[in-house]
Amino acid sequence: MHRFAGALAALCLAAAATTAVVLAGPAAAAPACAVAYRLNQWQTGFTADITVTNGPTAASSWTLTWHYAGNQTVTSAWNATVRQTGNAVTAQSLSYNGALPAGGSVSFGLQGTASGTNAEPTDFALNGVSCGDPAPPTSTTPTTTPTTPTSGPTTTTSGPPPAGCAGAALCDDFEQQTGGTPGGRWTVGAANCQGTGTVAVDTTVAHSGSRSVKVTGQGGYCNHAFLGTSVSGSGVLYGRFWVRHTTALPAGHVTFLAMRDSTDGRDLRAGGQNRALQWNRESDDATLPAQSPAGVAQSVPLPTGTWSCFEFRLDGAAGQLRTWLGSAEVPGLVVDGVPTADVDQQWLARAWHPAVTDLRLGWESYAGDADTLWFDDVAVGSSRIGC
Ligand code: CA
Repeated sequence: MHRFAGALAALCLAAAATTAVVLAGPAAAAPACAVAYRLNQWQTGFTADITVTNGPTAASSWTLTWHYAGNQTVTSAWNATVRQTGNAVTAQSLSYNGALPAGGSVSFGLQGTASGTNAEPTDFALNGVSCGDPAPPTSTTPTTTPTTPTSGPTTTTSGPPPAGCAGAALCDDFEQQTGGTPGGRWTVGAANCQGTGTVAVDTTVAHSGSRSVKVTGQGGYCNHAFLGTSVSGSGVLYGRFWVRHTTALPAGHVTFLAMRDSTDGRDLRAGGQNRALQWNRESDDATLPAQSPAGVAQSVPLPTGTWSCFEFRLDGAAGQLRTWLGSAEVPGLVVDGVPTADVDQQWLARAWHPAVTDLRLGWESYAGDADTLWFDDVAVGSSRIGC
C-alpha cells in the first residue's frame, strides 16, 4: 500500500504539472494510468483487488486490459464485468462506476483459479493506452479538477447481489436488517452457554450493499456464537455464502458453519483444522479430509482479509458432499461415493445420510482460538447458486 500511495502522490504532482504546461506543447506527460494489484493467493486459487488510478484524461467509462503469464483463470468478479480469452483479460466498468475523472480512482475485484507461479500482470492498459506509457497529450485544458485521492481502498465493496440467488429458497444479503442484532429469519445464539462471543449487523464491511453480519468469536466453550435459520433437509441441498475473516485458520479445530443433522441428532460442521478447511461430523468426530499431511494437503486455507465464496452440495440420499471455494472444487472436501485415500476413508466408516434442518454461521473453537468473521449473501437452494 505504501508503494501505491507513493505512486498516487507522484501521479497527482505530475498531473498538476501537466495541466500547467500542456498548452505550451508536448512536455513530460503524466502516466496514462496506475494500477495497484493486490493479490491474495492460496494453493489452487486467488483473489485480486485492483485499483485503477486515471491519468489526466477524464473518461465516462473504462476498460482495463492485461495478460496473465501463467494459468490464471478468472472465475468471478465484482464491481466490473471481467472476461478472459486465453491469457488476455478485459475488465469493463458497470453502469454505476464508469465515470472516472482525471486523477480519479476506481476499484474492482476478481477471483480465479491458478497453480504454480501466480505473477502479477505487468501490461495493464486503460482504455487502450498502456499504463506504462505517458498519457496522450490533450488539446484542451482539462475541465475536471483532479480528484483528491481518498485514503486508500476501503474494506467495503458494493454492487448488486450475486446473480442466481433470487431463485434460491434462502437468499439473504442482510440489507433488510435495521437493528444491531440480526432478526427476521435469523436467530442469534450460543448453543450451551453465553460468554463473550457476539453476532451483530455490521455496516462497515459488506460483500454486497452496505450490511453484513459480523461474528466476534472467542476461544472457549462459552464463547461460541452463531446466527442461524431453518432450512429444508429434503433432497439435494446447495449452500452458498461469502465469508471474510481476520485470523488464519489455526492448527486447532474450529467451526464457522454448523448444520443440525436430524438423522443423528448432531451437527455437520465446516471449519478448519491444521490450517486448512475441513468438514467434521460431530456424532463420531470424523473429519474430511483425514488429518494426515497428505489429507490436509488436499484442502486449502481460507484467505484472510478478503471475501471468499464458500459453496457446498449435500446429497443426503446418496450420502455425498462436495465443496467449492471461489468456484474451485476443493478435492479434500469431497465425498463422492468413491473412496479416496487420505480424504474420506474415515468419513465412509459408517453409513451417512444427513438430513439437515438448519444452517448456522458463526464461530466454534475447541482449542481456544479466536477469530473475527463477516458473512454476507447467504443462499440455500436445490440447484447450484454460484458465486
Ligand atoms: Ca450485504
